[in-house]
Amino acid sequence: MSDALYVPKPMLYAANPLDRTGNWRHSEDEIAAKLADPRSRFLPVWRLQPLLAGDEVKTPAWIDRAEIESLLPDAITVSLGLEGDIAHFAIDVSDLEEVTAKARFEARGTFGDLWSMHSQISMADSAILATARAMTDWHRRHGFCAVCGHPTALHQAGFMRRCTNDACKSQHFPRTDPVVIMLISKGDKCLLGRHDRFPPGWYSTLAGFIEPGETIEDAVRREVMEETAIEVGAVTYKFSQPWPFPSSLMIGCVGEAVSDAITIDLHELSEAKWFDRADVLAALQGQPDAVLRVPPHFAVAHHLIAYWATH
Ligand SMILES: [Zn+2]
Repeated sequence: MSDALYVPKPMLYAANPLDRTGNWRHSEDEIAAKLADPRSRFLPVWRLQPLLAGDEVKTPAWIDRAEIESLLPDAITVSLGLEGDIAHFAIDVSDLEEVTAKARFEARGTFGDLWSMHSQISMADSAILATARAMTDWHRRHGFCAVCGHPTALHQAGFMRRCTNDACKSQHFPRTDPVVIMLISKGDKCLLGRHDRFPPGWYSTLAGFIEPGETIEDAVRREVMEETAIEVGAVTYKFSQPWPFPSSLMIGCVGEAVSDAITIDLHELSEAKWFDRADVLAALQGQPDAVLRVPPHFAVAHHLIAYWATH
């Protein structure tokens, strides 16, 4: 079996070059100093769309502090990390009307949808932009305390919100929703499924949200049983990928089936099948006569399929 097909490489949204070490975020003085530092860089985000520079290749359009100073007192401003000692922030400018937002930044870039432009963005930049999108989305959704309903306020450079009700003071932290995504195999074949919304011939790995009280392994076994009635034995974690739509973490696993009769849940899938390794390799190689198509390289599903097919 060829190992050449599977070369681990940075995954979309998963190769963040910034130093996210957050100890400095616990000091309001240090945060204020970073926000005031003229060397700090700010990325405007308007209604979940980051400001992007460039035409064919898009890069984050970092703005100097002086250009957004008038927005700073009220705008949600979130640390994205450090490069050396230079702080990078996302600043949510969603309160600006569309015409105003576009006009204000048109000399620096245009606001663009992260998902539709992913092929024009480097892996490293995609990870920074994914963080900016996930964090600004979380702040937009958590303006009020889930415990008592009072407004919350931003702390720790955006990595905590605290209830402003003195009788409550609950702390709220950015959420990440864990999703298991799994390549299930039995001998020399693997289990892939499809939804009606997929392009013709396209099959992918099964996936589902982890529920409270479950381990990763439990969730893999439950989801596969629910969707296909296949029983899974050993489960091994392989790769993960942030998926900021709005806040998932895809936890990629491989699992060994101990049964092979498929009964699909039509609420979850439109089809599930066992595929031979040779057919999966043909799909990964993009052979025109391949009996299936698999997700492209930017998805963790592709990495799981390629990993299994080449080991
Ligand atoms: Zn509260």
